[in-house]
Amino acid sequence: NLSKRLATVAKYVPKNSRLADIGSDHAYLPAWLIQHDLIEAAVAGDVVKGPFQSADKLVRHLGLTNQIAVRLADGLEAIEEKDQIDVITIAGMGGALIRDILQRGKENQRLSGQERLILQPNIGEKILRQWLVENNYYILFEEILEEDHKIYEVIVAEKQLDPVIYTPKEIMFGPCLIKENSLVFQKKWQHELGQKKQILKQLQAANQPLEEKVQGFKQEVTWIKEVLNIDE
Ligand code: SAM
Repeated sequence: NLSKRLATVAKYVPKNSRLADIGSDHAYLPAWLIQHDLIEAAVAGDVVKGPFQSADKLVRHLGLTNQIAVRLADGLEAIEEKDQIDVITIAGMGGALIRDILQRGKENQRLSGQERLILQPNIGEKILRQWLVENNYYILFEEILEEDHKIYEVIVAEKQLDPVIYTPKEIMFGPCLIKENSLVFQKKWQHELGQKKQILKQLQAANQPLEEKVQGFKQEVTWIKEVLNIDE
């Protein structure tokens, strides 16, 4: 069975779609979706030989080679036009890496703009949301969940014609997550608050504090306190 994290990603894959799972590692996600008859076909891409081989092995073992193409490729290079991919999942990497994969995919014409993106960054969600907004992706859904003492976010986005506008605060916390303000969300930002305060202290103690950096952290600390309803 899928982990809670990957099950949350799976939840947003529309039925009968054609999926590209980038950085697929064992190909657990596409294999599960095919086995449950939820998608039509999938590409499982990975840039590292070991994970690629694990994916290949699992797909063969399960007899799914007709439905899942396993490819050794960097990012969206795994996608070919004939695949007619309409959903891309990228899970379990840092937000900056996911952003770079999407940006390179866009530059190399591997991203048509018609695909639904389901992204699960482990860190750096803000950087990723920034890219989505700059590229006119609207955030349809977000989830925050805890599994094995780790907190994960899932972001579901689709490109739209009109410019997408979010406030800097929505980009930092997530437009859907900030509205929902769940217990896991509060837990995450409690922890972040502690860390940011610590960094701020260190920055201010430096010989020549970098004013711009200090201001940035101060702003973030203020916003976190607002979101968590803390007055000090
Ligand atoms: N997506 C799976 C999940 O969420 O459980 C596996 C996550 S695993 C931690 C990250 C995988 O991404 C690794 O197998 C790694 O080789 C792969 N990866 C990293 N950079 C990549 C890139 N540029 N293109 C394709 N795969 C990449």
